Amino acid sequence: MPEYVVEPPKPIGLPIAGSDALFPVRRVYCIGRNYAAHAIEMGDDPDRDPPFFFQKNPDNLDPSGDFPYPTQSRDVHYEAEMAVALKEGGTNIPVNQALDHVFGYAIALDMTRRDLQSAAKKKGRPWEVGKAFERSAPIGPLHPVAEVGHPSAGRLELTVNGEIRQAGDLNQMIWKVPEMISYLSDYFELAPGDVILSGTPAGVGPVVRGDVMVASVEGLGTLRIPVT
Ligand code: MN
Repeated sequence: MPEYVVEPPKPIGLPIAGSDALFPVRRVYCIGRNYAAHAIEMGDDPDRDPPFFFQKNPDNLDPSGDFPYPTQSRDVHYEAEMAVALKEGGTNIPVNQALDHVFGYAIALDMTRRDLQSAAKKKGRPWEVGKAFERSAPIGPLHPVAEVGHPSAGRLELTVNGEIRQAGDLNQMIWKVPEMISYLSDYFELAPGDVILSGTPAGVGPVVRGDVMVASVEGLGTLRIPVT
């Protein structure tokens, strides 16, 4: 076996509720503009246009339980989302078989340097500086399908310092989870370890150091994340 010239990166492992085992992350796909009211607040048309995706890096998923305010931004926003973790991959996955590929679900935050994202949007530039920065996706434990089924309805909420900022329902997704998986699989070869962030309802907004964000998804518990 040849040796590596530098230390190989460690695999990214996400905790699983009720288990000591870890879920290994391969890729992170995020859907944009997937709740009509959030599309409107961002100045977009909420019609059922084809979905669009961007990516975060596997090591941006952060189960550690806090969110350090990032560098190079003065307008960092929360986006509470449900994460979908895949146990099987493939290409051209039919919608009616898509859920068979899911390992489980978690609560996640798609933290966004909104000022940098907005500047990138205006110039038609890519979004990585706004979206794919260090520890930009705090995430709670994965709940296996065997325990929680496939949540398709239920309250999704985010509070900051106890005040409700986002309140939506999973049933308001424009593109449902099976459709997302199927659509992505037409463009990418999905694989075990892939994670999809399924979009955020209306009410996104900024946080500052000292704030405490609490996201909850019915059936998946809560995720408490202080901004440090
Ligand atoms: Mn998002």
